[in-house]
Amino acid sequence: MGFPTRFSAHLCLYTSEVNIMTAISFAGVYQKYITKSGETTALQEITLDIQAGEMIGLVGPSGCGKSTLLSLIAGLLVPTSGSVRVFGEKVAGPSPDRGYMFQQDYLLPWRTILDNILIGAEIAGRVTPQIRERALHLLEEMGLDGSAAKHPHQLSGGMRQRVALVRTLLTEPQIVLLDEPFSALDYQIKLQLEELVTTTLKARGITGVLVTHDLGEAVAMCDRIVVLSNHPGRIKRILDVPHNVRQRSPLAARETAEYHSLFRTIWGDLQDEY
Ligand code: ADP
Repeated sequence: MGFPTRFSAHLCLYTSEVNIMTAISFAGVYQKYITKSGETTALQEITLDIQAGEMIGLVGPSGCGKSTLLSLIAGLLVPTSGSVRVFGEKVAGPSPDRGYMFQQDYLLPWRTILDNILIGAEIAGRVTPQIRERALHLLEEMGLDGSAAKHPHQLSGGMRQRVALVRTLLTEPQIVLLDEPFSALDYQIKLQLEELVTTTLKARGITGVLVTHDLGEAVAMCDRIVVLSNHPGRIKRILDVPHNVRQRSPLAARETAEYHSLFRTIWGDLQDEY
C-alpha cells in the first residue's frame, strides 16, 4: 500500500522490498522530568511510527508533551524508558540529518544572510565553494535571490523564515522538525510559507513533524494528525487526513468539505482537554 502524497510529488517510499520505510519510531516511550518540586511525567506510553516522506502534525493543549517529543527525535533528550529510532537506529544525540525550524528564525543580526545560512558549515569547518554555491542556489529557489549580502533587519518576517528554511535545508536533512514555525507571521504570509514548506519537503521526500496550535494549519499541511492529551501526555487519537485534502495545496485544502469536517473532529477532541 503506497502512501498518497500532496501534489502527487514523486517519493521513493519503498525499500527494495515492498514496505514503506519507517523514518521515526517511538516504542513505549515514557519521559519524566525531575525538578526540585518533584517529578513530572511528560509523556506516557508513546508508540508511533512515522513513515518516510510523511508530514505528521502534533496537536494538543500546552504542556501535553509536543516539544518533548520533538526533543526526543532531535536527540536532545534520552527517553526515561522505551526507545526512539530514526531510520532504524536508536537516537543517540543530535545529527545534521534532523533539521529544526522554530517560531523564531534565530538569524544573527551582524551576519549577512549568506553567512547566517553557512553558520553550521562554518562551525563544522566545512565551508567549501560547493556548499556556498548550494546555499546561493537554495536562496534562489526560495525566492530570495538578491538577499545573500543583506542583513536580517533588511528582510521581512516571511523572508527571514524562508532564510531559516534554507539554513535548515543546507545540511540536507532527512527529517525536519517544525516547532510552530509560522505562528509569528501575518496570516497572508503564513499561508504562503505553509505552501512553500509543504512543497519543498514533499519534493525532496523529507519527513516532517509539525507542532502547531493552529488546527487548520495541521489539517491543511499534514498527512496524519496525532492528537495528544494532557497530564500526562498520551496519544489520544491518530487521524488520517482524507485524500481529497492531502492532494491539494494547504490553501486549496481549506476549501474542501473534508477539511472542515476533520477540523471539527479535532476541535471536539481537544475540547475535552481544556
Ligand atoms: P508542550 O510542548 O506540549 O507545551 P512540553 O513538552 O513543553 O509540552 O512539556 C510537557 C510537560 O513537561 C509539561 O508539564 C512541562 O511543564 C514539563 N516540562 C517540559 N520541560 C521540562 C523541563 N525541562 N523540566 C521540567 N519539566 C518540564
